[in-house]
Amino acid sequence: MAKAVSAPPSRGMHRPARFLVRGHDAAATHLAELFNGTPPHALLIVGPRGAGAGTLARDAVATLLCATPVDGGPCGTCRPCRLVASGNHADLVRIEPSGASDQIGIEPIRELVAGLALLPIEGGRRVALIEHADRMNEAAQNALLKTLEEPPTHTHVVLSAAEDATLLPTIRSRCATVRIGLPEAAAAAELIAERLSVDAATATRLLRMAGGRPGTLISAGATGEAARAHAQLRRQIIDLSSTLPHVRLALLGTLVTDASAILVAETGDDEAEEREEVAADSDGTSDDREAEAPAPAKPKRATTKRASAKPTPAERRARVRALLRLWRGVARDLACVAAGAPGSVAFPEDLAELSAVASRASAPTWAAALRAVERSLSALNANGNPELLLDALALRWPKL
Ligand SMILES: [Zn+2]
Repeated sequence: MAKAVSAPPSRGMHRPARFLVRGHDAAATHLAELFNGTPPHALLIVGPRGAGAGTLARDAVATLLCATPVDGGPCGTCRPCRLVASGNHADLVRIEPSGASDQIGIEPIRELVAGLALLPIEGGRRVALIEHADRMNEAAQNALLKTLEEPPTHTHVVLSAAEDATLLPTIRSRCATVRIGLPEAAAAAELIAERLSVDAATATRLLRMAGGRPGTLISAGATGEAARAHAQLRRQIIDLSSTLPHVRLALLGTLVTDASAILVAETGDDEAEEREEVAADSDGTSDDREAEAPAPAKPKRATTKRASAKPTPAERRARVRALLRLWRGVARDLACVAAGAPGSVAFPEDLAELSAVASRASAPTWAAALRAVERSLSALNANGNPELLLDALALRWPKL
């Protein structure tokens, strides 16, 4: 029953006009081809968090329920399409993680399985959409398995996930899988400009801040303020090499406070990635005296409360992490310029300032500075004391 995946789109087909996903034309076309034939009963769409897998999954659902699909996509105008758009389609069940554990447990899956066994109310298909399916616990996955093995007629299950490694092999093997990477940058920036009502330059900067994931910014409700704060923080870090040690230390508090504005671009995935780095790098300056809950692993929702209230330890840690990630970006860019690769900098709009500073020290000096930031970030993720780590890094940063 397992189906082959990710064939390159054949000539003639193109991305369905009514798909909402942006910057994934090849995957969208591939999906349209799947739907033009016999749609699979189980479809899994995998892609980095915030990159568009959830949107593509919703496009798939809309197509499955549409009464008169066009080119493998929804028509957008029939009654089922209108019901899907308003969230009122009686044959669509949508499940996502909930509760303190932020998981999908067995109960909602049991209800879903029971619901799928009923006849369609609108006369078409019954469709289940499971979002963030990688957060289904094992019991939930086992409960879903039978439906995937012997799907009732007219029944389709669409899953979206950031990774499929946490899904049981038996689940994966029953699904037709479509994999996506990051969306094409120009299309993603256009989407951000539209959805967040910001100009093109701001949208581009926001997208770079979020590592190319528009969904992270859109669900956090990012604003131009985040981009402005990011630009200013970067300038301050770039200038840090020409300031005296006591000035650097005095500046850190403000930098951390200002970093709260850039939290909207933080992606949970990067934290996971950094936790893995920690495992490989045991240079953790951990501080056991500091007992505090780790920062939540899920993306932050609009963290708009600014410096007014005193931050909790978890918030402070999240701000320092965001500042260190930005700092790492500056260090990488300086190292690129110093190594004679200005074309590789992440924020080309900063190139003039980067070049002026990078030229004042050797390439190995900047490479060492980058390693120092990376070690600080690893140590922070290994529960190091945020203030001590920042102080040490500020003093270790090149003095020109
Ligand atoms: Zn339709």
